[in-house]
Amino acid sequence: MSNLKCSFCGKAIIKSHDEHIFPNCIYPPSKDLSKEIRLKIPACLECNSSWSGDEEFFRNVIYTAVGHNPNMDEKLMFEGPIIRSIRDHIGGKSKLDDLFEVMKSVVVDGDIRQIIYPTESNKILRVVRKMICGLCSHHLRIMVADDNVQVDMLDYYKDFITQKVLDAMNYNQIDKDIVEYWYSELDHGPISSLWVLRFLTKIEFISFVMR
Ligand SMILES: [Zn+2]
Repeated sequence: MSNLKCSFCGKAIIKSHDEHIFPNCIYPPSKDLSKEIRLKIPACLECNSSWSGDEEFFRNVIYTAVGHNPNMDEKLMFEGPIIRSIRDHIGGKSKLDDLFEVMKSVVVDGDIRQIIYPTESNKILRVVRKMICGLCSHHLRIMVADDNVQVDMLDYYKDFITQKVLDAMNYNQIDKDIVEYWYSELDHGPISSLWVLRFLTKIEFISFVMR
């Protein structure tokens, strides 16, 4: 009998539908060489198939949020998969509407600019929480419930999470310019582990996994 379990819901499974912790869709074609080393963990079919739409949205948001000087890879993502996916409609709603939901008008030097706040979207938070659950399973060999994962933008914590703190944490990357991350386990207190995820060298999330 196999002891295989879904890393997300804990259900016993006979055959795994391996789930990528960081979705393949965030990688431009030029990164195909890293396919082999992208992290995968066992998952049931239901969990595996429950993320894909939100992951595509996650990709659209992070590539839109990187800013005004996209590199060649970022441009190619825009001209191909992102534009295609934004054109799609679901139930009369354009995916562009979804993107607008995470944008806010702010005044910068007297001009109104649209700034993207990824954590304004439950879909984005859900995808990042999934990544953290997956990373806990991969690195710490523990199953973490989605409810125990808190996610925020790192910007709000910059005073605490300095470069010195990051240097003291465990570091990993899977194609550095696409995703890198840091983590630390904490022995006591309400937080069992702390995670920092950085996408496209700029978009940073912090996550606390509660005991
Ligand atoms: Zn599952």
